[in-house]
Amino acid sequence: MQLQNVVLIDHPVIQTKLTELRDYTADHRKFRALLNEIASLMVYEVTRDWPTTPRPVQTPMERMTGRVLARRVTLVPILRAGLGMAEGVLRLLPDARLGHLGVYRDEKTLEPVSYYQKLPPDIAATEVLLIDPMLATGGSALAAVHVLKNSGVTSLKFVCLVAAPEGIAALHRQYPEVPIFCAAVDRQLNEKGYILPGLGDAGDRLFGT
Ligand code: URA
Repeated sequence: MQLQNVVLIDHPVIQTKLTELRDYTADHRKFRALLNEIASLMVYEVTRDWPTTPRPVQTPMERMTGRVLARRVTLVPILRAGLGMAEGVLRLLPDARLGHLGVYRDEKTLEPVSYYQKLPPDIAATEVLLIDPMLATGGSALAAVHVLKNSGVTSLKFVCLVAAPEGIAALHRQYPEVPIFCAAVDRQLNEKGYILPGLGDAGDRLFGT
């Protein structure tokens, strides 16, 4: 399957951990650990094209010019399951700041409603990673991208573990320029909006609820 602006990170170590994560016998402790480990591993691929800037450094031997990330980084987990990937990403990007976005689905209109936003004031000048383990209907992702675009964000990537074709289509129908990074594109959604084969409710499995 060739999908535009979707990067499927098909690394053997990530696939091994994702398979363990999908296993329904994995308890919340194991699930939490694996989710963060996969998120860490994904960072290499997700950040590959970020610009760097020269920085002089004095080694024990001599002076040279190294390179560092050119822009600050903001992680924005979508509450609540996105929190399960934040620590793993922060392991590799410890200077990143954390914004939070809460989105729920209105039971009457079925439209996503953004109920909580707390973002760094200068987020527009940073590299932004929007994180959520599951891209299912795309409703939450769309609402979150909308908030970030309204905040002036220009460098934005969506990072998830498992994406449904329906979610990819929904997000890219409105925001084709936002790259989607995932470890798997699964078959389809069921009638309740769960991904098949998926891994169940990521938030419940993560928090033991
Ligand atoms: N959210 C989840 O946690 N799991 C799904 O399968 C779909 C949405």
